[in-house]
Amino acid sequence: MRFVEIPQHDIFKNALLIAGTTGKVAHAQLFVGPIGSANLALALAFATYLNCTARKEDDACGNCFACMSMAQFTHPDFQLVFPRKSDNSAFENPIEDLELFRNCLKQNPFLTLEEWTNAIDYDSKQCQITKKDANKIIQRLGLKAFIGPYKIVLIWLPEYLNNTAANILLKTLEEPPAHTIFLLVSFNDEKILPTIRSRSQPYNIPPFSEVAIEQMLRNSYSNLTIHRTKEIAFLAEGNMHKAFQLAKQTVTDNFERFSNWMRNCYSGNYTKLILEAEAFHKLSTDAQKNFFAYALQHIRVILLGKLNHSITTSAVEAAFSKKFGLNITFIQLKEMIALFTKAYYYLERNANAKMIYTNISIQIVKFFKAPDK
Ligand SMILES: [Zn+2]
Repeated sequence: MRFVEIPQHDIFKNALLIAGTTGKVAHAQLFVGPIGSANLALALAFATYLNCTARKEDDACGNCFACMSMAQFTHPDFQLVFPRKSDNSAFENPIEDLELFRNCLKQNPFLTLEEWTNAIDYDSKQCQITKKDANKIIQRLGLKAFIGPYKIVLIWLPEYLNNTAANILLKTLEEPPAHTIFLLVSFNDEKILPTIRSRSQPYNIPPFSEVAIEQMLRNSYSNLTIHRTKEIAFLAEGNMHKAFQLAKQTVTDNFERFSNWMRNCYSGNYTKLILEAEAFHKLSTDAQKNFFAYALQHIRVILLGKLNHSITTSAVEAAFSKKFGLNITFIQLKEMIALFTKAYYYLERNANAKMIYTNISIQIVKFFKAPDK
């Protein structure tokens, strides 16, 4: 990751560049930002810049050995630390975990904890950075830098450092060996142990702007139409992770499914609704979740339409939203949002998709039949 790949955030980039060029680099820095922010991307770009051997004025070169190995997260002076399984199996395959984590990051620099724990098939609440991880950090920092000039430890989600691990790290975090930098990347600094937080220089990274999201989508998803790009940038609410997820959705399939579903609910056609539930059950969990994310986003479009605030969608989606908006009340839309949000929540926890779809269908049929509609 290089600074040039991250839109917006010039204030942070400039501060980091000045630190890098003057050599006045705080030895523990905390990049805090919400999910889908540039917290990790900035920390990675900074680490790349610090060890680049052919730095440019405003960025790493991207071509030297240091930059190439940083792009693969394999630079010998760069340690990547992240929450892992906290049970005894945790240290059976540390190298496999690292390899898997690197791959997840390569695919998505806006990785969430849920995505990571799904990849290792583990409960995110049980994840920790343990004393074994902490001891390994200290041990590796005891070695001389291979290439340097900096030895960099990037801790992703220091909020998952358990007490023992944090205690092991405290002294080193406060007085690290020369040219050692800790970069902590967090979604929620209130959850970080105060002893760790107070020893780090904080950067509060804001969500992305709509313009920045559009720019990044144009670079990463060249197949999106201009209006879809604008729509996603609006719906993502500053969250680049969400923007990427929306960009991956097959909008046409979701729209067809959603509009047919609503029509069948409206006419109370249970035969078709049951067939739909069966078809929905056969989709992958990701596609099921994507569908409800799409449904939520479409309800939002309908709500805004009812408030006379139009946003860019395709002509066919806009026509449907307008007509649907005339036949549904704000209260019913609010109830649908609650239902779809719950559906998403249960799908994430592997609940039965057919049952979820059927239950929601019954409830929506009831709204449409309600006398006060
Ligand atoms: Zn370089």
